[in-house]
Amino acid sequence: MDHASRRERLAGRLEDLGVDAFLVTRLPNVRYLAGFTGSNGQLLVTTDGGMFLTDGRYEEQSAREAPGLQTKIYSGEFAGPFAEACAELGARSVAFEAAGLTFRSYEDLSGTPVKLVPTRDEVERLRWIKDPEEIEHLRAAQALTDDGFDFITKKLVEGVTEKEAAFELDTFLRRGGDGVAFDTIVAFGESAAEPHHSPTDRLLSYGEVVKMDFGALVGGYHADMTRTVAFGRASPPLEEVYEIVRRAQQAGVDAVAAGVTGAQADRAARDIVTEAGYGDQFKHSLGHGVGLEVHEGPSLRVTSADVLPEGTVVTVEPGIYLHGVGGVRIEDMVEVTSAGARVMPRTTKELVVL
Ligand code: ZN
Ligand code: ZN
Repeated sequence: MDHASRRERLAGRLEDLGVDAFLVTRLPNVRYLAGFTGSNGQLLVTTDGGMFLTDGRYEEQSAREAPGLQTKIYSGEFAGPFAEACAELGARSVAFEAAGLTFRSYEDLSGTPVKLVPTRDEVERLRWIKDPEEIEHLRAAQALTDDGFDFITKKLVEGVTEKEAAFELDTFLRRGGDGVAFDTIVAFGESAAEPHHSPTDRLLSYGEVVKMDFGALVGGYHADMTRTVAFGRASPPLEEVYEIVRRAQQAGVDAVAAGVTGAQADRAARDIVTEAGYGDQFKHSLGHGVGLEVHEGPSLRVTSADVLPEGTVVTVEPGIYLHGVGGVRIEDMVEVTSAGARVMPRTTKELVVL
């Protein structure tokens, strides 16, 4: 990963922002710009380099992960070392991430002589466009997630619980990669009517749908895939709903391209669900960017003005949820390439009947 050139891109924003330095405190952004994967680290970026700050627990790790950066090891509160670092760098005004400081931290930093300028999504926007190494990590995470689907469908037997199925799937993903991308969703029957269902001790029986939303974590990059399968034959309303969601998902994928807004992509899928009479049962946005965070920009929702750039990776995940009956969601990650959307999963979107 070329962290130095990423920092140069952020440094290129300093003049427009009217500041001498940029303070990065959101950890995914620290990782993106410095390579540091620990739990406490702050980065000051200036046009001629910058400084990384962390505590004694991470002295060795930061030297290993962020070798090209001047580093200050501190203990206790951040405000004092922050002010010292700014003085050493000659930075009198510093941009900070509005989403990256608690109110308390902001109050502490406001007590220093440094002028603070709030910003939104500066580093996040750089992260929208993935470089080839990031794409490789995402593809590896997706490949393991596809393997996870093959694995778990063999474990779905009568009497297994949602928790047991989720545990088996998590174990498979942890063994093959670096962990799970987020809390795995396994939902049987009417539980599938909840878009985000926490697995319970509910037992699987014939004639129910199984909705699974899960992903592997590889090299810090998250996969995110949903498949809904039928255990035995699904009830007729859910078979019909499955085909509507599948058509809507394909329309969403077909709409994704460089230059399209998130709202346009959302509309393409949502129109199909609405025309089929289930508009009120599609209760969430179409999708989101994915990378160092499982939910990041650009956003694919009704109101999103985000313009999809070539090189971004987003999810397309329409769903229909019928209270007391069940639900269907189909989710793929797609790469936005010069040739349009490239669907990442190899897992089928035909209705799988187990
Ligand atoms: Zn998902
Ligand atoms: Zn998702």
